[in-house]
Amino acid sequence: MSQKLQGKVAVVTGASKGIGAVIALQLAAEGAAVVVNYSSSKEGADRVVSEIVGNGGKAVAVKANVANQAEVKSMFAETKKAFGRVDVLVNNAGIYEFAPLDAINDEHFHKQFNLNVLGLLYATQEAAKLFGAEGGSVINISSVVATGRFPNGSVYSGTKAAVEAITRSLAAELGPRKIRVNSVNPGMVETEGTHSAGITESEMRKQVEAQTPLGRIGKPKDIAPAVVFLASDDASWITGETLYISGGMR
Ligand code: NAP
Repeated sequence: MSQKLQGKVAVVTGASKGIGAVIALQLAAEGAAVVVNYSSSKEGADRVVSEIVGNGGKAVAVKANVANQAEVKSMFAETKKAFGRVDVLVNNAGIYEFAPLDAINDEHFHKQFNLNVLGLLYATQEAAKLFGAEGGSVINISSVVATGRFPNGSVYSGTKAAVEAITRSLAAELGPRKIRVNSVNPGMVETEGTHSAGITESEMRKQVEAQTPLGRIGKPKDIAPAVVFLASDDASWITGETLYISGGMR
């Protein structure tokens, strides 16, 4: 069976758990060698790598805080050492915290913007240096909150709206180098992160499900196939686009 990403090298940020882990597994299942980035969960990243290697694929776990430019640079240096090149970058690492207007402070703002926005730019900057003459594909994980209307989420929603604007801007800037930049906007997805934040057990989940035409929240495996598609040559004339994967919820 032919694999869509045979011979390609992919870096997935925040791939030790949640949506990123399943994206890493599915990219590897299509033949990509995968850098499984994590910031603190070495065990989770090692588990993803073992599963890929156990299935006959190639992967390495690389620790880096994506909000830190020096660590991002060293992650790509390790990528180059391990696999020699980069073809696909999935900017998935992100954090979500909710707070009413009165509770917003420097920490709440910078924690989210430094990773979700600045870290995404740093990672893309380094990946772009390693993409070859045949170009590359960057897939940014944004969210339905980028265009939705959710209370107490002004900072998080702001980061994800920024990701969409950055997607369009970089698509225009990098298109001449055959680098495609697209974003995927998930609705609420059941992950380690949404569990530990209490989101998947909350009243909000019920409200979201009631407003979702397909009547349920998502799983990481609802998101990953679209990322594989955007990474592959099947999407070779698609750039600057945003794909909502949310069961129809906006
Ligand atoms: P998650 O379960 O909390 O996992 C987050 C991942 O990001 C982990 O692998 C974590 O690694 C990594 N990470 C956190 N801080 C990092 C940093 N500074 N540097 C590098 N990696 C870091 O998250 P998720 O729910 O799968 O969400 C993944 C992405 O999808 C995020 O961008 C999120 O905004 C977006 N999204 C999620 C939902 C949802 O409902 N789940 C909906 C829409 C969009 P460590 O464990 O090692 O720290």
